[in-house]
Order: sequence, then structure tokens, then C-alpha cells
Amino acid sequence: MVETYRSPRGSQLTCANWQIEAAYRMVQNNLDPDVAEDPANLIVYGGLGKAARNHEALHKILATLRRLQPDQTMLVQSGKCVGVMQSHVDAPRVLLANSNLVGDWATWDEFRRLDALGLMMYGQMTAGSWIYIGSQGIVQGTYETFVAAGKRHFGGDLSGRLVVTAGLGGMGGAQPLAVTMAGGVCLAADVDGTRIDKRLHTRYLDERIDDPKQALQRALEMRAQKKAWSIGVACNATQLLTIVRDAGVVPDLLTDQTSAHDMLVGYVPDGMSLEQANLLRQRDQKAYQRESSRTVCKHVALMLDLQERGAITFDYGNNIRTEARDGGVAEAFRIKGFIPEYIRPLFCSGRGPFRWVALSGETSDIAKTDALALKMFSANASLRTWIEKAQARIAFQGLPARILWLGYGERAAFGLAVNDMVRKGELKAPVVFGRDHLDCGSVASPYRETEAMKDGSDAIADWPLLNAMGNVASGATWVSIHHGGGVGIGKSIHSGQVSVADGTESAERRLRRVLNFDPASGVMRHADAGYEAAEIFARERSIDLGG
Ligand code: NAD
Repeated sequence: MVETYRSPRGSQLTCANWQIEAAYRMVQNNLDPDVAEDPANLIVYGGLGKAARNHEALHKILATLRRLQPDQTMLVQSGKCVGVMQSHVDAPRVLLANSNLVGDWATWDEFRRLDALGLMMYGQMTAGSWIYIGSQGIVQGTYETFVAAGKRHFGGDLSGRLVVTAGLGGMGGAQPLAVTMAGGVCLAADVDGTRIDKRLHTRYLDERIDDPKQALQRALEMRAQKKAWSIGVACNATQLLTIVRDAGVVPDLLTDQTSAHDMLVGYVPDGMSLEQANLLRQRDQKAYQRESSRTVCKHVALMLDLQERGAITFDYGNNIRTEARDGGVAEAFRIKGFIPEYIRPLFCSGRGPFRWVALSGETSDIAKTDALALKMFSANASLRTWIEKAQARIAFQGLPARILWLGYGERAAFGLAVNDMVRKGELKAPVVFGRDHLDCGSVASPYRETEAMKDGSDAIADWPLLNAMGNVASGATWVSIHHGGGVGIGKSIHSGQVSVADGTESAERRLRRVLNFDPASGVMRHADAGYEAAEIFARERSIDLGG
């Protein structure tokens, strides 16, 4: 029988205090069937991104949390609890290191060898660090990206614009909703019809049409009517793009979020059904990877062709360009990355994918924190628009949560105000604050977050390590250091933090330190790289750059 996990709800504690309870609830929330992409295999999102190494390891994590004391810290190595240390009440309750490999060994082959031996797991970003909140976690970032692209290229929103993409998985499934929120039409391929159905079910997608020609026709009609609409097509990305190209249609925006960072377990080759692909993977991994590589080259060649014809084309953080370049598409990097194009200016003010989760499981708690955010940030039109749209359009998955791209200053002010609400009993239970590892100061990823840094420091991974150490020193409730998230093994190092607002004074002290330091480290990183906006921001906000 397949075991299922679901976070406890309510105000009754299973663990010694709310800090420990938060970890206990969040690891299980990551694996909630409403949240995770493949909970039976403990896969949360992003190809193989897991919350724990295996079921036995997860049971040990949960049992250890149930007996953990408020002055102890649990150590987790690639999804398995390996020990408990005596620490102190202000220290993190859990420290996690996932998927880390020494430089020369940091390859998919070595990772897979160790994974098969049961020695490691792939933690992605928020899967192994227990702060995944379903597709909502990425919707705002995706929305901000499409809004920024609309402003930059079309002088407004995306109404009357066609966005073509592929990949409707845990993260990619946010694309149709983000595009329609920005006013556009989204045509998205996914080889796996069950993923399309999942997005329909959660209202991230409006319609499924299995014939790519009919789907394109429908998308063009919607574009002509300037109607915000999204269509999922059950086919390979190459099949959809070939039909778009052969019809002489030029998408206004073109991107991709298939799991191209993993050519074995993420990406699916064309010319065969999904079932045939699964059989080939089981039978002959090398042959599967050859087929994936052939397909990804064709896929990127089609994207380059459409870019040549005028489609604004960008890489959406899945390493597709590198795979195609390594497979022989020399021009792959003519496609620009989305971070330097649209997101880096936000990072310069410590802004990034901040989020919080109501541990009570009550949607009313999120409604109250939404109201607080609307009051505190009413002057910021884009934050206000986001919250209003999210309230109207986003179905919660698992414990109710909210993503809000807050910057330095805003995060601490908001976290402290929520801690106050918990203290006064205005919420049914404490709240956890965390963020994606795709944040301003927490990641080195030369094909994504740190692509084309001004000073050429793209591959320097000291920054996420400093970020993690700073968060430990500041007293975050759990801190994680991962390798390979987003773009795959060998391509990134990143860190995460999650902190609990339980209404106590000690939580207030810790939140003040963590929620200031964490985004400040991003401002420091960008100021050091020579971004003037970050230098000015640091000066204005008295972020101490040393000296
Ligand atoms: P996922 O594994 O949950 O979903 C990937 C989807 O792609 C699956 O539904 C799969 O069926 C589909 N797919 C694979 N190959 C295909 C092909 N050739 N044609 C059509 N469909 C195909 O992954 P996810 O969580 O959605 O993440 C997708 C990618 O985006 C990953 O590479 C991930 O690392 C990256 N990512 C990007 C961001 C960002 O901010 N841009 C954030 C997180 C993850």
C-alpha cells in the first residue's frame, strides 16, 4: 500500500514547541498529495526533487522531530536524519545539506550512482528544504517576469499577445495562470496529459485540447479577441513548435519549462509515447539520454528559428540552452536568460520570492495576513495587484500559503507584524516565513540566477554559503545548503531558510535578525558585483558594506 503524508492542522502540538512542529508540518506538507507531483516516490517537484531520501528516512525524520527538545538541533544529510546535537534555544532546530558533491565529482552520473546506492537524494530548491507551497510558489515570479516582458517589449500588459511554452509540471504549471493574469494567451505543451489535468483541476489552466493544430487555432482566435486564456496541449514541445513554425505563426513570447535540467528523469524525448519513453528509460538509460539530447537540440533549434522570425524568446531557468549547446547547437546561448533580462533589478533591492504558510491550515489566517500586507504595502501598486489577483485566482494546495516578492525592510517589518498578530491570538496558530532558493543572495547558478554578472563572478559560490551561515547565526528555524537545484547537478549551489513566527519575544528577536540579514546578503552580493542600484540601495538603507 502506498503511504500518504499530510500535515497536521490546528493548534494542537505533536512536537515540543512550534519551531519543531513547523518542521514536522512542513516536511509532510511538501508531500501532501495536493502539493507534491509524485508523493508516492516522495517527489515534490522539479524532476526528481525530493523531501526525504526514502520512506524509512522520512519516518526517522518525523520520529526524531517528535522527540526533539527546544535546545537541540537535528542534522539532515540528503534527506536522512543522521544525528541530533545539543545546541541552544536560539539556534536552528534543523540543519540540512542536500545533494552536495565535491567539484570534480559533481556530475549527474556520479549523483545517480550514489542515489542508486541510497546515499543521496536530489533536493531541488524548496523540496528538500521543506518550504514548497505548490505552484503558487512560482506564480508570482512567473507573473512578474511576464509583466516585465510585457512592459519592456509591448509597452503594456500581454493583452492580445500569444505566449508559447512547454512544461506544465510543479513549477511550469504556473505559466498559464501567470500569462492570463498578465492579460495574455498561453499555449503550452506537456507530454503528460495527467499534468495538464492537474493544472485544470487547480484552475491554473483554462482548457485542454489534444490536437496541436486545433489548439493553435483556438489560441489565435483568443489572441485576436484579446481574451486572456490558456490552453494545454498533450504533446511534445517539439511537436507544438513545429506546428507553430509551419503555420507561419510568430509567438509574441516564447519560452520553456520542461524539466530539461535532467535528461534522464525530467525531459521526455519526442517520436515516442510517454509510456514508450518510460519503458526505454527502464531498459536503457544511455539510449534514453541520447534520445533526450537529440530532442532538446531540435527543441532549441526550433526556438532559435522562431526567435529569428521575431518571437521574444527567453530561457526560463531549466538549463535547456546548455543541454542543447552540449548536444551541438552552437547558437543556443543566443537565447537570453530570464534573470539578467527581467529579475536582477529586483534582486538589487533584496527583493525575491518570499512566502509564508499558515500552520493552522486555516485559510482565514492567510486572509488576515493578506489584509495586513495590503495595508502595509498599499503604496506599492504591483504588490497590491498581485495580492488581489492571487486572492481571486489561486487555489491553495496543502497548508494555505501566500507568496509575495518583498524586499529588504519589507520582509522584516511584515514578519514582525505577523508575529504580533500571533502573540495577540488574532491567528489560529503560528506562521512560517521562508523563500525560494532563487533569491537575491542565496544562489550561485551561472546559467540562471547569476548568469552574466557585471563583474564576471557568475560561478563564485561563496555567496550562498555566507548566506546560509548568516542565517544560522541569526537563528533561522531551519537552514539548508543544496547543490544542483533548478539547472541540475554541477550547475548551482544555493541555500534556504525558514523561520517561525510563534508570537514569542524570542521569535521576534530571531525574525528581526533573519529577515533583515537574509535579503541584505543579496544587496551585498549585487553591490559587490558593481550594480549601482544595489550600492545606492545599501547606502540609503544603511546596509553596512564594511570598510
Ligand atoms: P516537473 O518535473 O514537475 O515538470 C516538468 C514537465 O515537463 C512535466 O510535466 C513533463 O511531462 C514535461 N515535459 C518533459 N519533457 C517534455 C517535452 N519534451 N515536451 C513537453 N513536455 C515535457 O518540473 P517543474 O517543477 O515544473 O520545473 C520545470 C523546470 O523549470 C525544471 O528544469 C526546473 O528546474 C525549472 N525551474 C525553473 C524555475 C524558475 O523560476 N524559472 C523555478 C523552479 C524550477
